[in-house]
Amino acid sequence: MIITIDGPSGVGKSTVSKAVAEKTGCIYLDTGAMYRAIALKTATSGIDIGSETELSKLLDSTSVGFRRNPDGGLSILLDGEDVAASIRSPEISRLSSDVATKRPVRVKLVAIQREIGSSGNIVAEGRDMGTYVFPGADFKFYLTATTEERARRRWAQLREAGREADLAEVERELLTRDRQDSERAESPLHPSPNAVIIDTTNLLTDEVISRIISAVQG
Ligand code: C5P
Repeated sequence: MIITIDGPSGVGKSTVSKAVAEKTGCIYLDTGAMYRAIALKTATSGIDIGSETELSKLLDSTSVGFRRNPDGGLSILLDGEDVAASIRSPEISRLSSDVATKRPVRVKLVAIQREIGSSGNIVAEGRDMGTYVFPGADFKFYLTATTEERARRRWAQLREAGREADLAEVERELLTRDRQDSERAESPLHPSPNAVIIDTTNLLTDEVISRIISAVQG
């Protein structure tokens, strides 16, 4: 079984997707973490991501994957190393949206995502899961919320993680990333025509989760 959960930044996809995976006994596939891992690699290697030659060379010597933890969850690995703690900064968020516009990056990551999808039941979270990576998914969901609410959620998340954050700045960054994610040529962010769209602006996380679970379990 494949369940896809797409939507813009800060909409609460990760929390919801993890809970849905747990309740349905599926593996949670965080595809954003894969783009973030590539962004981290380009940042540390100092290459010019505008150069397709340099980018392709880097990708040829880069491995992105996951390790299964004892709790059943997956940890993101970059060249065999767990990079979960290094990929959540605002800088990597920005850069991940930049590298995600690059075709060689998407080709590489989509192949890995499909491979994981073919090996078991998954909840796949991202931007193009229902539209491009798993068009034949069993259940497709697309989460939305107002920009103000998404910025407020992201801001609260950053504060909870002990980072100083300015709400107006968080909102600006979110809008920039959404615009780039929606307007890029390769797999832009938009709902799949057969996705269930859930506006989460006025819903509690638990309400979003139970809507999805009810739809999946019929
Ligand atoms: O979901 P998350 O914020 O971790 O994703 C980081 C970035 O990776 C997004 O802004 C988007 O540009 C890119 N991404 C993508 N396709 C996906 C998942 C993420 O382009 N399936």
